[in-house]
Amino acid sequence: MGRSDALADAHGRVMRDLRVSVTDRCNFRCLYCLPETEEAADFYRAKYDPLRNPQPATPIAREWKPKSEILTFEEIERVVRVAVSLGIEKVRVTGGEPLLRVGVENLVGKLASIEGIADLAMTTNGFLFGPKAVALRAAGLRRVSFSLDSLDRANFRKITGRDGLNELLAGIRQAQELGFQPVKVNAVVIRGLNDHEIESLAEFARAENLSLRFIEFMPLDSSRAWQRELVMPGREILAQLQRRFDLQPVASDNPSETARRWRFADGRGEIGVIAPVTEPFCGHCNRLRLTADGKIRTCLFSLHDHDLKPLLRGESDDSALAARLVEIVRGKEPGHRIGQPDFVQPERTMSCIGG
Ligand code: SAM
Ligand code: SF4
Repeated sequence: MGRSDALADAHGRVMRDLRVSVTDRCNFRCLYCLPETEEAADFYRAKYDPLRNPQPATPIAREWKPKSEILTFEEIERVVRVAVSLGIEKVRVTGGEPLLRVGVENLVGKLASIEGIADLAMTTNGFLFGPKAVALRAAGLRRVSFSLDSLDRANFRKITGRDGLNELLAGIRQAQELGFQPVKVNAVVIRGLNDHEIESLAEFARAENLSLRFIEFMPLDSSRAWQRELVMPGREILAQLQRRFDLQPVASDNPSETARRWRFADGRGEIGVIAPVTEPFCGHCNRLRLTADGKIRTCLFSLHDHDLKPLLRGESDDSALAARLVEIVRGKEPGHRIGQPDFVQPERTMSCIGG
């Protein structure tokens, strides 16, 4: 069976990648996502520039969705199955923190058995990975990405709001031992917070044979405290790494890949830079997102989402669901507007979208 191009948008892009958020809840309070700790407030207070922004932004009023609004595993499986029949090939289970969803390994098992998924992965903060690792692997999960923004215990706690570095490092080791391949690590870099750790994180990737991605800080935090000055541009990150390491570019035949990648000339591991703010890649975006409460988002920065629950919980059959997905994708926006005068931060934080 040939792959379908049914999920083509009006700008010539074909959707192949679906991010599935299984919960909006999280056990961390990352400073760039859910900055709800005193330390996070202090950090932003110290960076706040009243001359540039006379009015402090109003934080997004975050509420966890009630269970009745969260899709069941059967509903998620149905959306994914229909999306795969329309050409989706990559599925990533995310959140909030996906490992907080009770029985998430059962969902992974259901998704792994859908014919046509070439790549099934999960993004996690890793705190609860250890106890779930074997079950996830047995259920058919092959790839996992961990969020690791600091190797310093105090800075890790400041960034994530949780004293969880040891659990995360143990989770990464366990993923490697169990044969997850590749084990990826994501680090959001914020100027004045963890930019001094760029080299040690890269050294860690080399020593541990990890695939590390440095990500620019995007305006998706619940406090709306993002400022352009806090973004460490991808090219600065790369320049810093090139001064320290001998890096060789890794060629990619996938134009939709978000990371520019390099390998260490003298060792294992790989680093990548994802620069959505300073070098947007919207023209090649092939991603859709399904939120935990059943909404399709065509862009991280969409100001509207599309509720599938009335279809999923009504009488509609799969062909109606497929037709709705095709229609939604046709309206995918050409790109985000970060940095433009008309940019408006969405009402949903990264934790409620599914990164
Ligand atoms: N809780 C899991 C985790 O942290 O890995 C999965 C969900 S989290 C929303 C997915 C990814 O989004 C993480 O790698 C996180 O670092 C990234 N992220 C969250 N807020 C971000 C922001 N404001 N800018 C850039 N990346 C962000
Ligand atoms: Fe941090 Fe992920 Fe939780 Fe956001 S969803 S607070 S990035 S662990």
